Amino acid sequence: MAVFEGLYFNGKTSAGLPVSVELLPTEFRLTTRTDADFLRIWDTNLIGRNDFNDAELVELQYAASPPEYLEVKDPAFFGALKMHYPKAAFAGSRYGSLISGNPLPLLSVLAVFVLLVAGAYFWLIPKTAEVIAENLPVSAEAKLGQALIDGMLEAEEKDSVKTMYAQRFFNLLHASPQSGKVSVTVVKHRQANAFAVPGGHIVVYEPIIHLTDSYEEFAGLIAHENAHLQHRHSLKALFRNLSSYFLVSLLFGDLNGIMVVVAENANSLKSLEYNRELEKEADMTGLALLEQKHIDPNGMVGLFSALKDEKENIDLPEFLSTHPVLDSRINYLKAKIASRKFRVQQNDSLQYYWQKLKEKSIE
Ligand SMILES: [Zn+2]
Repeated sequence: MAVFEGLYFNGKTSAGLPVSVELLPTEFRLTTRTDADFLRIWDTNLIGRNDFNDAELVELQYAASPPEYLEVKDPAFFGALKMHYPKAAFAGSRYGSLISGNPLPLLSVLAVFVLLVAGAYFWLIPKTAEVIAENLPVSAEAKLGQALIDGMLEAEEKDSVKTMYAQRFFNLLHASPQSGKVSVTVVKHRQANAFAVPGGHIVVYEPIIHLTDSYEEFAGLIAHENAHLQHRHSLKALFRNLSSYFLVSLLFGDLNGIMVVVAENANSLKSLEYNRELEKEADMTGLALLEQKHIDPNGMVGLFSALKDEKENIDLPEFLSTHPVLDSRINYLKAKIASRKFRVQQNDSLQYYWQKLKEKSIE
């Protein structure tokens, strides 16, 4: 068996005696070269660990009276203890008796716990919020949407004339009563933007109209925003973004609190980001509406090209101007258009309303 060099303390004097420590199956055998008569037999059942540090030095204690001590400063000693006495407490971890054995299991438990909490926070709660959004009754969505749009437009300058034309444009384009009533509002603003507000509202910031070169492009924009409404994208995204607030409100059983939080965050709708899948879904649904109304589907391609080309010259919100996927959207739209036979018909009414929308505001 292994032999190590260490220092022995008899518990009466503070001087250490250099000893050889022989590790035997059930005992330690301590001898010294300086005194042939010296022999200490330590029963391994009575040996305890005295150090709880991570140093190279292992300090053991022997339950005699008075207690005796042994210090071994040898990097291999701890490994030898573990190997020869795998079940003994004194061969346990240097991290102390709190964690017996390998610290890995405890760390894994901690890691799993952290993952669970993070998973709940980043996935489960937002996912639950989305499911709630999906199943929200239409009447509740309408009520919430009204609070949102009212709160949002309070600080904006509405263009009443253009709102009227945009609404007529929409009605001609949409004309699908089963998907509910949609209100379109044109707002005077320095930014070019358009977004869907839950409960059936589309807000258009006037400069984006000037970005369109044809009624087909404007139809593409409106069809896209309308698709976000149809699929409840904005409601889902809003719920998702605010889901951590929801949790707090739900914990306190405060459903009104949820409504208040949502209404207070109405402004976040302006810069709401949807992921690529949702954008693609809205593009495809919008394209289907254009097809159904015999509007040239290239209008949607033209709109994205205009957004891409003009982004240096006009004031676009960041989520529109830095959209890295405009190219890919243009590509999949072109591919889709090429794969189908679109029957296109000039629509003079849409052309008329679009021209009215393009005119300089009177006020
Ligand atoms: Zn979109």
